[in-house]
Amino acid sequence: MLLDISDKIKLVISETGFTYCNCLFIDDDVKTIIDTGADYGSLQQIQPASVDRVINSHHHIDHTRGNKYFPGVKIAIHELDAAALSDINNFEYYNSLDQWHELMPETDYLEIAKQIGLYFEDFVDIFRVDETFQDGEWMDFGKTTMQVIHTPGHSRGHCSFWFPEESFLFCGDICLTKAGPWYGELLADPTDMIDSINKLIELKPDRLASCHIKKVCTDSTPRLTEFRDRIYKREERILKYLANPAGIDELAQQKMIYRFHVSPFVLFWEKLMVQKHIQRLLGFDLAEEVEPGIFKAR
Ligand SMILES: [Zn+2]
Ligand SMILES: [Zn+2]
Repeated sequence: MLLDISDKIKLVISETGFTYCNCLFIDDDVKTIIDTGADYGSLQQIQPASVDRVINSHHHIDHTRGNKYFPGVKIAIHELDAAALSDINNFEYYNSLDQWHELMPETDYLEIAKQIGLYFEDFVDIFRVDETFQDGEWMDFGKTTMQVIHTPGHSRGHCSFWFPEESFLFCGDICLTKAGPWYGELLADPTDMIDSINKLIELKPDRLASCHIKKVCTDSTPRLTEFRDRIYKREERILKYLANPAGIDELAQQKMIYRFHVSPFVLFWEKLMVQKHIQRLLGFDLAEEVEPGIFKAR
């Protein structure tokens, strides 16, 4: 389904949900798609052969999996996510999968990845970056202009895209779904995520859309604020539980981040995200490590 944002900007809603994503098509003099992770059928609506430029909001496979449908088209991503998308050998490092063995010793992530359709060896042909961009950069597509807003937290190079004339914001994986915010990889960071969301709130967009909800929202300030405040609520839950000493595994079993661990990946992400909150609490001197791997509120 295509949703018109303006006569030149269209939201490509992926008919298939995660591990696919919505994309943004700028149907202007320089035809550009932001993210390529809509399912194949949904992508056909914008005639991929006509596209001049591909921009990725960040390196995750659900956003880059369709890059292979744009051979010969330049692929651009923020400079801090370029290494993650340039070489398949960086995949485990940037997705924190080399921590799997330590956090999830009972299960094999390759088996699980196959089950949820994210088996990275199926994606060997997406690892290519031709151009990079930076925070604040303006892009001109003809009649449409857009500003890159660097919004790290979800990944280090995650970006949102601001269309001031339309007062429209495409905020990528500041996803606004019930499951978010997500900061479960090596260079993800809840503090950066909070700062990034605050940056977007200040823009006061009339309309915003993300890569994982199937609509355009007009209530940007309350929606982004509620989304940001979930990070604080998670941290409050963790701190409360740490009235008694506990480690990462025990905290994760208490479901501090996710209400349901529907797959081992969700449990893995929960552990990674709990770890990041613990680091914040130690930094604020609100918790201490009472013995190796065991933490307690101060
Ligand atoms: Zn992502
Ligand atoms: Zn995503």
